[in-house]
Amino acid sequence: MARYDWIIKSGRVIDPATTTDATLDVAIAGGRVAAIAEDLPSADGEQIYDASGQIVAPGLVDIHTHGYYLATPLGIDMDHYCLGRGVTTVVDAGSAGHDTFPGLRAYCIDRFRTRLLAFVNISRGGLSFAALAGGDAVGELESLKLLSEEACARTIDDNRDVCVGVKVRLTDSIANDGRNEAEGYRMAIAAARTVGLPLMVHHTFSTVPLESCPGDMANGDIYTHALHGFRSTLVQSDRSIHPSAVAARDNGVLFDVGHGAGAFSWTVAEACMVAGFAPDTISTDLHSLCHEGPAYDLTTVMTKMLAVGMSLEEVVAASTAKPAAAIGWQGEIGSLQVGREADVVALQLDDVDVELEDSQQQKRRVRQRLRATAVWRAGERAAVTAPQAWPNPRPVHLDTWRQLEIRDEREPIG
Ligand SMILES: [Zn+2]
Repeated sequence: MARYDWIIKSGRVIDPATTTDATLDVAIAGGRVAAIAEDLPSADGEQIYDASGQIVAPGLVDIHTHGYYLATPLGIDMDHYCLGRGVTTVVDAGSAGHDTFPGLRAYCIDRFRTRLLAFVNISRGGLSFAALAGGDAVGELESLKLLSEEACARTIDDNRDVCVGVKVRLTDSIANDGRNEAEGYRMAIAAARTVGLPLMVHHTFSTVPLESCPGDMANGDIYTHALHGFRSTLVQSDRSIHPSAVAARDNGVLFDVGHGAGAFSWTVAEACMVAGFAPDTISTDLHSLCHEGPAYDLTTVMTKMLAVGMSLEEVVAASTAKPAAAIGWQGEIGSLQVGREADVVALQLDDVDVELEDSQQQKRRVRQRLRATAVWRAGERAAVTAPQAWPNPRPVHLDTWRQLEIRDEREPIG
């Protein structure tokens, strides 16, 4: 009998947590990483995956997704769109609140093969009726009766094995024309402090000023949607970074991509890179209105961050070790270490030449594309699903360009 179930041979192993970047073999046995070494004998492997010419990395970690499938308008099938694209751990960002969390746990967390963790919404129903934050959407902050810091904290405390923090969305259209935003934010901070876990904040069209958000966030809290160009953008009209964001980063607040349908602007991403304000973590905010573009999947968002100037090593770190640490799971996930559950991805870096869209159809030419070629979750190989073709032949969300404060000079066409 072979010693190992799998040997992933001759890949360029990039594991930022252990500062590994070398051609190595990774062996899997009993669902765990069994060996990482040069030239393991092929005879020792029940099955061999030839990763020559490819990158082998820890299974990717996406800390902003929506996985409350079929029970919330934004929910999608995590195994198809995340595990199938190389993402072995996803965090649902507030799709469930206290009243709806048991369903997320029973029907999604316990059933998907993808490891699904959760930020719990400060609003008791989570995103059970919320779609996009805008237009006619009803929001989870419309009434303060929907919010309970005590109930949110209790849910997290009762489910600490899968809960990683508190989520709140701050945008006027979902909060009684902004009247409930400040109080919702205060309650979310209080709940996070009660359980001693991070707060993740969505801050886009908000009445809460940047002096308070991210200004009042603490070490370890996560400011998602950091690269949007709407009213609450971190980038000022002279393209510098708002001083509150710079001070918050100095205080240990983390800045996360959270691409989504509306929150990735090439213009803002480029300004952040010029200002030395690259995001700490790369996430998709993958949901039912962006999974076929403009976000697509995590490797596409990683591709975009490569295109604006993050190095391959930085992009891998921001999609493995750093998000794992951001949710306090660095001892379990985000690194290839002997004895850990074998969550492993093989990635191909292809030369391409395509115009890729941001959330408002602004385009940039992309010359390298990262995509998953193989993935293992707890040592079992999972099917890789073919991504939607990009750029999307049927562009979506064309109507928000005019709402941008920071944008290209010219309005994009189609
Ligand atoms: Zn989201």
